Amino acid sequence: MNIHEYQAKELLRKFGVAVPNGKVAYTVDEAVQAANELGGPIWVVKSQIHAGGRGAGRFKGGDPEKGGVRLAKSIDDVRTDAKAMLGQVLVTKQTGPDGKEVKRLYIEEGCDIARELYLSLLIDRATSQVTIMASTEGGMEIEEVAEATPEKIIKVAIDPATGIAPFHCRKIAFGLGLEGGQVKSATKFLTAMYKAFVEMDASMVEVNPLVVTGAGEVIALDAKMNFDDNALFRHSDVSDMRDEDEEDPAELEAAKHELNYIKLDGSIGCMVNGAGLAMATMDIIKLKGGEPANFLDVGGGATTERVTKAFKIILSDANVEGILVNIFGGIMRCDVIAEGVVAAAREVSLHVPLVVRLEGTNVERGKEIMAESGLPIISADNLEDAAEKVVAAVKEAS
Ligand code: ADP
Ligand code: MG
Repeated sequence: MNIHEYQAKELLRKFGVAVPNGKVAYTVDEAVQAANELGGPIWVVKSQIHAGGRGAGRFKGGDPEKGGVRLAKSIDDVRTDAKAMLGQVLVTKQTGPDGKEVKRLYIEEGCDIARELYLSLLIDRATSQVTIMASTEGGMEIEEVAEATPEKIIKVAIDPATGIAPFHCRKIAFGLGLEGGQVKSATKFLTAMYKAFVEMDASMVEVNPLVVTGAGEVIALDAKMNFDDNALFRHSDVSDMRDEDEEDPAELEAAKHELNYIKLDGSIGCMVNGAGLAMATMDIIKLKGGEPANFLDVGGGATTERVTKAFKIILSDANVEGILVNIFGGIMRCDVIAEGVVAAAREVSLHVPLVVRLEGTNVERGKEIMAESGLPIISADNLEDAAEKVVAAVKEAS
């Protein structure tokens, strides 16, 4: 799960991570009030969307010189900027060409920036440890730094048994060229950040830029956090921060029905039970020259209701030109699945070719049910056959 910058800062602040003062605003009036309360003399008006690159992004139909993060030198500027951002669509490198509508702003104290650095914490699967990555190249995308100048990235892995220690912090601080009091400030910052990361079950925190202020303090000017969904049940404060406006509506709907759905860009909708089988199905569709429109694992209990819901979700994607159902009837028998598929296909008045491959308990009875339904269901005998049939059916239809 992702959260907004202002929410990440609110959480991090509780752990003692240094962040500038700021307030969220949903309206222009709230933005002005927030600016008055913060006191100035300089504010930064920041668009809150779940995408980075806001500063360099541009509003559709907006001032081509101005981005989604603006420095304001007066309350009037705050008002003007808030008006120019709220309700408008911001396009950044990370939003794609459609952009995202800005519905919330963060009004933050202007910070006296001496240096902009980069910092992130993530779980490195290779070492099974939290790894801290830092770089002097603040404001740059880390992927670009890694590509062009990998030697500029400092990496420190933290053993979970010992946790973070001052020597880890010094290694990062010295690598970043910090001196004197800055090292102390960085140590406090990193220690608090590591604690926040572990205790909140984060999967990624990115602070870009991490800044050294004119006074030598190390402080987070931006903050992006991701959390491990499987641990959200023990962090209601985090799960309450979910902003459904930022999520894909079909994925949200799927989550409500405990369907594991991820939208992709292709034209062949897939309905499969089991994540491994779903992956294999996507692979073979590609092998046969098609492109999967989604990953969808309907899980173990593929009831009629869930199969119907899954059909509806797949069909809500306008790119879908054919559907491949690939279900292994183990605990759930094939005849029950076939009944579910038939009922669901009727209910959604299916308008694209449907290929079904069933295997497992009562498979013969399952195939009979589909044949007797009178629906134009294309039955397949194995996975390869199914993939070939659905790719051919989509080609024929288009
Ligand atoms: P994004 O990464 O989405 O562009 P950031 O929060 O990193 O958004 O902001 C972009 C830039 O704006 C930063 O690199 C920094 O130079 C400047 N900035 C952001 N917040 C502040 C602040 N509170 N004070 C001064 N400058 C800021
Ligand atoms: Mg940033």
